[in-house]
Amino acid sequence: MTTPKKQRTLTEPFKIKMVEPMRVTTEEERVETLKTAGYNPFLLRSDDVFIDLLTDSGTGAMSQNQWAGMMQGDESYAGARSWEHLQRVVRDLTGMPHVLPTHQGRAAERILYGILGGKGKVFISNTHFDTTRANIEFSGAIAFDCLPAEANDPGTELPFKGNIDLQHVRDLIIEHGRENIGAVILTVTNNSAGGQPVSMENAISLRKLCDEFGLLMVIDGCRIAENSYFVKHREPGFENKTYKEIAQQMLNLGDAFIMSAKKDALVNMGGLLTLKDDKLAVKCTNLLIISEGFATYGGLSGRDMEAIAIGLVEVFDKDYLHYRIKSTQYLGDHLISKGIQVVRPIGGHAVYVDAKSLYNHIPVEHYPGQALVCDLYLKGGIRCVEVGSVMFGKYDEKGKLIPAAMELVRLAIPRRVYTQSHIDFVIDVFDDILESKHENKGYQITYEPEFLRHFTASFKPIM
Ligand SMILES: *Cc1c(COP(=O)(O)O)cnc(C)c1O
Repeated sequence: MTTPKKQRTLTEPFKIKMVEPMRVTTEEERVETLKTAGYNPFLLRSDDVFIDLLTDSGTGAMSQNQWAGMMQGDESYAGARSWEHLQRVVRDLTGMPHVLPTHQGRAAERILYGILGGKGKVFISNTHFDTTRANIEFSGAIAFDCLPAEANDPGTELPFKGNIDLQHVRDLIIEHGRENIGAVILTVTNNSAGGQPVSMENAISLRKLCDEFGLLMVIDGCRIAENSYFVKHREPGFENKTYKEIAQQMLNLGDAFIMSAKKDALVNMGGLLTLKDDKLAVKCTNLLIISEGFATYGGLSGRDMEAIAIGLVEVFDKDYLHYRIKSTQYLGDHLISKGIQVVRPIGGHAVYVDAKSLYNHIPVEHYPGQALVCDLYLKGGIRCVEVGSVMFGKYDEKGKLIPAAMELVRLAIPRRVYTQSHIDFVIDVFDDILESKHENKGYQITYEPEFLRHFTASFKPIM
């Protein structure tokens, strides 16, 4: 395919072989279903959702090759063929000898941070993903995010807004003492900070900093292929490298790699932990066997490992990555053209709408992000998630909300699932939102658990 001279329709580089019907609901029905769900879209039934942009995690469509691979999965308890296939692909990608299969990313996090964490330990990241932070804090350790100031301004166009602030990392290491640092974690792409990429230069500098202090560098890299796309197209010197070569170079910088296979491995379930250090690998393998499964399958069946091994190769296909990044951008660009503020530039897996500016009549204590999430469902049956003070807010001693840095709403795009007409529908729903947003006065939390409250909290509308 040659590149057309003028902008043409963005075509999906695949065609449909099997269809999954979608149920169309009315706004009256959705008023009721949302109320029953406590105004928390995580508690909706998927049958009541039309377009599900809640997450790109585990929601992708597998290819015919992956489905064919499933049929060839070797379900042997030990030393399965499918395990060898997965191990080969992952070693090639990461350069790390020890590969531990887990049932999803957070299981790898629990194993690694359970060992490295504990009371008195400190973890430093560009941004800890919510399960990462929860696993670290659950161990008794504390987690610091180090984003440069400009990354917290949704409007500034910079090529690598996911980068870690190296000076801030250095200050934290000195403040807390190098012996108390559990690990430094580079999240690639930076999911919670707008799906923004991390540059190779930043990753190399972090490697040097970790070497200077003798610290372990973990790459939380479930979107490593999407990040490689941005490196190739935005960072000088990488124009002629393949996406896979870029990923290999970046992963090689780490001492450990954690991956939720539900993202760039193009499967519905699975995770990986890979390590360079032999002693740490023994400790992690012991915990893996206690809690996930034997070392050659961990939390996965043979067919799952086969599908991951195939997905990890497919995801670096240049036509796939072009479509993936450009279709996400398409949604973002159309929202921008309506005057809606989004995190810019558009990230890889999602469009993050700045709900604070869209719902500027709602104070942060009444969660403008949750207001937009609820309106998108009411107007269009679209499900998405708040990434703001519901997800990251804390309370001070007096019980007053300490808000998150930004009030975002994430429209995450499942991989290879929705077509351009679905995305055009989402864009249309924003016209309704712009018309009716003033009717929404925000929400108040009526129930919340101690950890990861956004999953199970309930709300009620402010009247
Ligand atoms: C999804 C995700 C995780 C957790 O993985 P699960 O498979 O959902 O347990 C960890 N880190 C990042 C950056 C993620 O996006």
